[in-house]
Formats: sequence, C-alpha cells, structure tokens
Amino acid sequence: MSRKKIFLTEEKIKHRIEQLGKEISLAYLDQEVMVVGVLKGAFIFMADLVRSLTIPVKVDFVAVSSYGFSSQSSGVVQIIKDTGQSITNKQVLIIEDIVDTGLTLHYLKERFLAREPKEVKICTLLDKPARREVPLKADYVGFVVPDAFLVGYGLDYQEKYRNLRDIFIIEV
Ligand code: 5GP
Repeated sequence: MSRKKIFLTEEKIKHRIEQLGKEISLAYLDQEVMVVGVLKGAFIFMADLVRSLTIPVKVDFVAVSSYGFSSQSSGVVQIIKDTGQSITNKQVLIIEDIVDTGLTLHYLKERFLAREPKEVKICTLLDKPARREVPLKADYVGFVVPDAFLVGYGLDYQEKYRNLRDIFIIEV
C-alpha cells in the first residue's frame, strides 16, 4: 500500500474550476472553442470545466502515452488516439491534468499548430514548474503544485486512484 496525504480538497478544486470557467468564458466571449482533452488524466477536469463554460464549445479528445506504468517520464510522447474532428481554422483549447516536464504539451501543441488552427491555447488544472524540461507555458492554470507525485481527480498511479474526489500526494 502506498502512503497518500490530502493536497487539494474537492471543494477547493470545484471553486477554482468555477473561477477558471468564468475567466475562459470571458476571454472567448461569443466565440466557439474546440476543447480538446488529453486522456486519460484530464477526463474528470474536462467534464467539470466544460460545464462551467458559458460559451459555445465543441469537444474532442486525444490520448497520449508518455509514462507507461512508471511515475517517471520516459520523454517519449506517443499519440494513441488523435482528434476526430478537423482543427483547421478553429480556436483550440487543450485541456490537461498536469504539466510536468512540459514534453507532452510541447509535442501536442506543435503537432496541432501544423494543422493551421486559428490558435492553440492550453488550460491545465495543475502545473509543476520545478520539473520543466522545455519552455512550456500554459495559458490557464488551476493550481501551481510542488515537485511531488499527485493522484486523484483523474490522475493515476499505475491506473489506480483516478476516481478519488480529492487530490493526494502519494509516496511512490
Ligand atoms: P509531461 O510531459 O509534462 O512531463 O507530463 C505530462 C503527463 O505526465 C501528465 O498528463 C500526467 O499524465 C503525467 N504526470 C506528470 N506528473 C504527474 C503527477 O504528479 N501525477 C500523475 N498521476 N501523473 C503525472
């Protein structure tokens, strides 16, 4: 059994997402946004965030794998599932659970930009800047977090804990 201690409560997360929803809705006022969630970690954040948006949205997902079954990044990003809709000429907002080294989003953003969207912005629930390996800046950040391994609210350790309502620091 791994030891875990609470880091962000469900209430805190909910409150911050309401703020993010207002901020993003205001920034895109009356414009349609193509919201692209990065599976699997962002699925719960994405579900809550899109419901806090008051602008018209289209929803899509990509699935990437960069960690395998380890808690350390291999540095290799693999697209397992691409978007089902064209992003050309669209305002794309990528939704991620956590930015760590930045390698995943750096790769995804470059790949998306090559398809000539109107713009690509990034919204991440958690940002771990201490571990950045490439200069990647998210446009919307829920919480800046320390260099620790987090689980819950979509984030896993070896595919477990995604269903927890709060976010925990886990010793792995
Ligand atoms: P990056 O490419 O920025 O290093 O990593 C992004 C991905 O690594 C995230 O989408 C997430 O799946 C995984 N990741 C990074 N840090 C953590 C963490 O603290 N907890 C969990 N569960 N996953 C993490």
